[in-house]
Amino acid sequence: MAEPPAALSPVLKQATPVLAARGEGVYIYDEDDRRYLDFTAGIGVTSTGHCHPKVVEAAQRQVGTLIHGQYTTVMHRPLLQLTERLGTVLPEGIDRLFYVNSGSEAVEAALRLARQATGRQNAIVFQGSFHGRTMAAASLTTSGVKIRAGIGPLMPGVAIAPFPYAYRYGMSEDQAVEFALREFDYLLATVSSPRDTAAVFIEPVLGEGGYVPAPPAFLTGLRERADQHGFLLVLDEVQTGFGRTGRFWGHDHAGITPDIVITAKGLASGFPLSAIAAPSALMEKAWPGSQGGTYGGNAVSCAAALATLDVIQEEGLVENAARMGERLRAGLAEVAAAHPAIGDVRGLGLMLASEFTASNGSPATEAATRAHQIAAEQGLLLLTCGPHGNVVRMIPPLIVTAEQIDAAVDIWASAVAKATS
Ligand code: PMP
Repeated sequence: MAEPPAALSPVLKQATPVLAARGEGVYIYDEDDRRYLDFTAGIGVTSTGHCHPKVVEAAQRQVGTLIHGQYTTVMHRPLLQLTERLGTVLPEGIDRLFYVNSGSEAVEAALRLARQATGRQNAIVFQGSFHGRTMAAASLTTSGVKIRAGIGPLMPGVAIAPFPYAYRYGMSEDQAVEFALREFDYLLATVSSPRDTAAVFIEPVLGEGGYVPAPPAFLTGLRERADQHGFLLVLDEVQTGFGRTGRFWGHDHAGITPDIVITAKGLASGFPLSAIAAPSALMEKAWPGSQGGTYGGNAVSCAAALATLDVIQEEGLVENAARMGERLRAGLAEVAAAHPAIGDVRGLGLMLASEFTASNGSPATEAATRAHQIAAEQGLLLLTCGPHGNVVRMIPPLIVTAEQIDAAVDIWASAVAKATS
């Protein structure tokens, strides 16, 4: 346990006081060698587990061969191989890639491409969206006011539509979809003309905004509207991609094809790498030289991403995420049934959360914070999310076993009991 050093900016908010010394599989060890079940996976990044031997080996080999190739100066083999390999897992018809380093940068890249390709300016996002912290990405982000506070004016031309968050609205899923699509059409009629709208950005599961899956009918409805009006459907799969939801892509649950896919986090097991992918006809509309970067498509990150894909496929991690996700969901549902403070358990695959609600229906942020803290003290690392911080989420590495899920649920049950007694 350690307090953040005073020399670090207070702008950083650390979720737990753990000083991590090393990571192995699903566990983080602190400097006293105390072991924690890491159900945060570095915010959904270390899907292959901490320091998977194959990822370590690939990265070490690459470090001794070529660390930095710089893709606008020289091309390198890991980037070429990764591009070919990603072609086998990308949605049908999506065959061109562009690499940067973080989720936010990839979101910016998608926005630039959408504007250049359509000649239109506006973006539509959804309430609770999280697309990043750089200025344009923050302009697309509405998951919590702290991300926008004091840094404006933000980018103009962003319209915000309701997300079909059934629990929040006290609606059935069907009602929430009908409501949100109606409001989306209203927005097109009142705020962002289809002729000005370049793209709609959506997360298949609202992430930082509270772990709310977008119902398939909602994504289908957006696909229809994008086709009808000629704007692009951009799927931000930064958190949901690479098997996290029990399918390779989050949008696979809806069976739709996006125009642009954004991927990061789980892509390279912790090495900084992100990408946007789009069909050739669309990507060719990017203005040459208008995007790039010093570190994009770093050789070590690309080698780590190739090894990550090997591990995901060889170890059946997408299937494991689906199976273990069901087990974790059942465990969380049991805890919720015993504790009325938890009003909803939801998510997809190994992207699951419990929302804490007070008896008067308001967000029970204190109970959620306490449960999260007690869990950490008892050896289970978790994260909170949602605009009010009253949603506790679990995103373990996709290699998690049934025993580890059961151990986490036991700690969770005890933490919730203590936090709500
Ligand atoms: N999009 C989504 C859906 C995310 O969850 C995140 C990060 N939580 C981002 C974008 C931004 O990614 P980064 O922090 O790497 O910039």
